[in-house]
Amino acid sequence: MMKFEELFDFAIHNKSIYYDHITGLPNRNCLYKLFRKLQLNNKKYGITNFALMLIEFENLKHINGIYTGHRFIDEFSKLSAEILKGCINDKGIMFKFDGESFIIIVPYDEVQEEKVSALAESIIKKFKNYVKVNFYEVSSTVYIGIALYPKHSVELDKLLELADIALYEARSCGKNTYKYYDKVFYKNFQRKSRIISNLKKAIDNHELYLEYQPQLDIRSGQIVGVEALTRWKNYELGSVPPSEFIAVAEETGFIIELGRWLIKNSFNRCSQWCKKGYPLITSINISAAQLQDSCLLNFIEDMLKEYDVLPSMIKFEITETQIVELTVKNADIIEKIKRLGIGIVLDDFGVAYSSLNYITLFPIEEIKIDKSFIDMIGKNDKVLIIIDTVKYLAGKLGVKVTAEGVETEEQFRMLKGLSCDKIQGYYISRPLPAKGIEDLIKHKSVI
Ligand code: C2E
Ligand code: CA
Ligand code: CA
Repeated sequence: MMKFEELFDFAIHNKSIYYDHITGLPNRNCLYKLFRKLQLNNKKYGITNFALMLIEFENLKHINGIYTGHRFIDEFSKLSAEILKGCINDKGIMFKFDGESFIIIVPYDEVQEEKVSALAESIIKKFKNYVKVNFYEVSSTVYIGIALYPKHSVELDKLLELADIALYEARSCGKNTYKYYDKVFYKNFQRKSRIISNLKKAIDNHELYLEYQPQLDIRSGQIVGVEALTRWKNYELGSVPPSEFIAVAEETGFIIELGRWLIKNSFNRCSQWCKKGYPLITSINISAAQLQDSCLLNFIEDMLKEYDVLPSMIKFEITETQIVELTVKNADIIEKIKRLGIGIVLDDFGVAYSSLNYITLFPIEEIKIDKSFIDMIGKNDKVLIIIDTVKYLAGKLGVKVTAEGVETEEQFRMLKGLSCDKIQGYYISRPLPAKGIEDLIKHKSVI
C-alpha cells in the first residue's frame, strides 16, 4: 500500500482550501476530493475497503463556558487532533470535519474488521483520561459512529449520513461508545426524527395530558400523595411512552417547555384537589436540564402564586443518575427550591450508584427505592437486608423512604414489615386520570 501523504498531491498548493487552519488537518473539502480519487482508482492505491469513523465529543460548549472563554474550544480541538494522531499512527487518515467533529478513514482487508474496532476502543480509552488544556484538566465524552465502504455504501454523502446515524445510536447507548452502522438504527433514527418534529407541536396541539399514580402511607393506609406522569397521544404516532419522549425532550431542549407545562398543570390540579378536600401531595419529575434554566425559580414562584398552592403540597423528584451530573450552580438552585418550601425527592434510588452520599450533599427529604430492587423481593433475600439498612440510615437522617413499582401482595407485606413510609405501584393502582384518583379515594377501594 502506498503512503497516505502521496494521496494529497492535489492539496499541496492550495493549503487554505484543503486544510483546517486551527488543527492543521485536512478538512471537509479535502475529504471529498480524496474520496473521489479513491473511488476512481481504489485498486491503484490498494484501498478497496475502508471504514469511515465519525468522532464527536460531548459537552465541549459547556466546558468552554466554565473554563477559559471562546478560545478554549480551539485549544481542545488542537489537543484532540494530537491525541487522535497518536492513536491512529499510520493506520488511517484523519480529517477535521464540521463543528468539533473528526473523520478518520481506516483502510482494512476484508478479514480485518477488528482492526477498526481496536482503533475505536483505543481512542475511547485515551479520551476517558483527563486532557490538559491551558492549565485546566478536562474530561470529555467521546462517541464514534462507523460506516463501511463499500459494504454500507459507495457514496461519501451516504457513508457520512450512516456514520452519523451510528453515532446517534452510540450516544443513546451510554457514554464513550462506538457503533457500526446497522439497518435497525435507520428505523430508530426515523422514529426519533418523527418524535422530534411532532413533540415540538404537542403542547400547542393539546396532545399532552397528565395521569396521577397514588402513593399510600403504609401506617395510616391512606392515599396521601400522587406522582404526576405526562402522557402524549399524537395523531400520527399514537400513544408514545414517556420512556421514549422524555429522553428526546431532554436531548432537544424541549424538556424546558414540557417541564413548565407539567409544573403549571400539576400545580393547578393540586390546588383544585386541596380546595375540594383532597390534600394530596403532588410529586413532579424534574430533569437536570430544567435546573439549568435561569428562569425556573421565578416561574415556580409565579405558579405557586397563580394557583394558590402551598409549597409544602409539592415535591420535585430528581433521579440519582441526573443528580450526579449537576454542577455547583444547579445544586444551588435545588437549595433555593427547597427554601421555597418544596420537598426534594431522590428518585430511582438503586438504579445507579445507590449512594446515600447525595443526602448529605443535597437537601433531600425522601428517597424512592427503584422497582428493580422491589422486583427482587421474594427472589433474593439479601435485598431485604439492603432495603432495611437504607431505611435505617435514611430514618436516622430524617429522610422518608417510598418503595415504587410494588406489584404483589408479598412485596407489600415485606415492605410494611420493613417500615417503609410509602408505597407506590400497580398493587395500589396504575396511574389514573384525576377523576380516577378522586373515585379511588371516595370509594376507599384501596388496601
Ligand atoms: P418514574 O419517575 O420512575 O415513574 C414511575 C414509572 O413506573 C411510571 O412509568 C409508572 O407508570 C411506572 N410504574 C409505577 N408503578 C409500577 C408498577 O407497579 N409496575 C410497573 N411495571 N411500572 C410501574 P411512566 O409513566 O411510563 O414513566 C416513565 C418515566 O418517565 C418516569 O419514571 C419518569 O422518569 C419519566 N417521566 C414521566 N413523566 C415525566 C415528566 O412529566 N417529566 C419528566 N422529567 N419525566 C417524566
Ligand atoms: Ca419519578
Ligand atoms: Ca422512579
